[in-house]
Amino acid sequence: AGVDPLTDTVVLPAAAPGGPSPATLEARAVSAWFGSHQVLSQVSLTMPAGEVTALIGPSGCGKSTFLRTLNRMHELIPAAQFGGEVLFEGEDIYDASWRLTDARRRIGMVFQKPNPFPAMSIYDNVVAGLRLTGARAGRREKDLLVEESLTRAGLWKEVRDRLRQPGGALSGGQQQRLCIARALAVRPRVLLMDEPCSALDPTSTRRVEETIQELAGQVTVVIVTHNMQQAARVSQQCAFFLAEQGTPGGIVEAGPTGDIFGTPKDSRTADYVAGRF
Ligand code: ADP
Ligand code: MG
Repeated sequence: AGVDPLTDTVVLPAAAPGGPSPATLEARAVSAWFGSHQVLSQVSLTMPAGEVTALIGPSGCGKSTFLRTLNRMHELIPAAQFGGEVLFEGEDIYDASWRLTDARRRIGMVFQKPNPFPAMSIYDNVVAGLRLTGARAGRREKDLLVEESLTRAGLWKEVRDRLRQPGGALSGGQQQRLCIARALAVRPRVLLMDEPCSALDPTSTRRVEETIQELAGQVTVVIVTHNMQQAARVSQQCAFFLAEQGTPGGIVEAGPTGDIFGTPKDSRTADYVAGRF
């Protein structure tokens, strides 16, 4: 690892053993319930290492719920029930040998509404990512990690001279990239993003998309989006979710993004990606 002085980019060790190499995530027959209401039925999807997978589909079809099951975030919702397997490099994260903190550290998450700690400094917001998962680091290590994480999130140049200012002083788009930096600080191997641009203006959206494009190859990204152009721009694979009247949500069709948009096999996918919904 080092900083390339020409590009101001932190060079990460490439796929070092134990380092932040991207991981393959595989959902097998994932089902979910809220109380007795089943919202997902038998969803299977492989999210290949280093690729960006976009989850698309109408509101209420279970995309956010599915995303949460990928790092056990749904366990924070009292009535949520889960069935199935989620394999991280072949290991089931629901196995008793996996603790919740293991799942959170390896599989990070970014939400729709930017949620930095507003009164906390930019620096401490990034470092907070470490504390939340129980990781420890010394001062020098933290400095390096803050620079690395903000660089990877595409925010370093904008904030390098104001790291002590509160996170809440940043613009909405910058706050979202700060949240991405906070998630990256634990060097996760998968990053889950639930409509990360829905609360942002077009320019900020573009910046976050650029960040996602740069993360591809370094981290496995799973992103929920309602923006078809965005899905087409950032993802290599696309999964179309649907919950038809009175039935739980599931995947209608998944495949390479070009195929889903260009030659969808299912007429429901064709209608959705063409905006007929
Ligand atoms: P999407 O992200 O595709 O819009 P969600 O996963 O948020 O879909 O929701 C899927 C279904 O689960 C919806 O019917 C929604 O009302 C229900 N649901 C989501 N969250 C909860 C919750 N915390 N408690 C009860 N039902 C929920
Ligand atoms: Mg949602």
